[in-house]
Amino acid sequence: MVDPKGTRPAMNALAETLRQRIGQHGPLTLADYMGECLLHPKHGYYTQQEAFGRSGDFITAPEISQMFGEMIGLCLGATWQAQGAPRDAIVVELGPGRGTLMQDLRRIAPAVPGFDSLPIHMIEASPRLRRLQSDALPGVIHHAEASGLPQAPLFLIANEFFDALPIRQFRRHSAGWEEILVGCDANGLCFGKAAPQPYHFLDHRLEDTEPGMIVEYCPALPPIVAELSQRIADHGGAALIVDYGDWRSQGDTVQAVSHHQPADPLAAPGTADLTAHLDFEALYNAAKAAGLRPTRLTTQGVFLERLGLTQRAQTLAKSLSGAALDSHIAAHRRLTHPDEMGGLFKVMGLVAKGAAVPPGLEP
Ligand code: SAH
Repeated sequence: MVDPKGTRPAMNALAETLRQRIGQHGPLTLADYMGECLLHPKHGYYTQQEAFGRSGDFITAPEISQMFGEMIGLCLGATWQAQGAPRDAIVVELGPGRGTLMQDLRRIAPAVPGFDSLPIHMIEASPRLRRLQSDALPGVIHHAEASGLPQAPLFLIANEFFDALPIRQFRRHSAGWEEILVGCDANGLCFGKAAPQPYHFLDHRLEDTEPGMIVEYCPALPPIVAELSQRIADHGGAALIVDYGDWRSQGDTVQAVSHHQPADPLAAPGTADLTAHLDFEALYNAAKAAGLRPTRLTTQGVFLERLGLTQRAQTLAKSLSGAALDSHIAAHRRLTHPDEMGGLFKVMGLVAKGAAVPPGLEP
């Protein structure tokens, strides 16, 4: 399927739908475009594709090794104990994918008596993934949005959830910011930009940017973090947020990945994973505004090592040999090495003021 000039593949069904919408209502923000690509009910990436694992498009930490979910379980279990083991607490995961992390967390949960019988709640937008998660974890309670979570102490993990939330992009201009938009031309979808104007939510970026620089803004983040934070502030609990990104969004971080390779984000909407780095400063500010005390940003490698990943790896290695042992050693390195996910991925914990810092995230 090649166009007459042979330069771009023909538009797929979602591209055609978006082209018509753009024709009628004008260009889309990048956030609107990402939202449609990821969660369109018929053609969306998470609603359609088998994204995870070696045969999919990308591999996440829980899919690399069971040790990741086990360490998250130890951290949340110890935090629950340190808060007096509240019986009305719930374990929550945002965007659980195939449910692998929660299965690994459950395996380690009996090490903390009582933690293993807490109910599990999940926030998942994709009906297809909800079915997979229910198969993996019978009895799990699903919600489409964070506002559906009960008022209870939350012990929560979000791994690579926030990077899937759509972002808007802006280019600094002397007279404010030009928003990057998705429009269309004779060849199909293309990038464009809006006239420059000020945006109050970018005022704090005027001091550290110069004309031409790109910043990103995730409109869905503040309301989600406000919902979680209010529950933790009122009832107790803790949230662990693990993602790639840094303090403050730096430049264009939007990535399309298909079959483990970078892809053109506009070429075939809905067929590639689309993500953007998490701006941990935005997470920190939203949690702080709701009265929480966010922890320091810690790299994934340091966090996992402090929780005892190496001892766990050695124990597991005893029953392995040959190729299985090689891949176990490679998985350990990939999760923790500063040049791999260990340095690229960061962890921030959110707890109420006065609550103990979750293990692994001490300053
Ligand atoms: N945490 C998993 C999967 C990460 S992929 C892992 O580490 O393997 C992102 C997950 O978030 C998917 O389950 C996706 O369907 C879900 N998701 C993406 N956007 C969402 C939204 N706006 N609301 C709820 N879930 C969402």
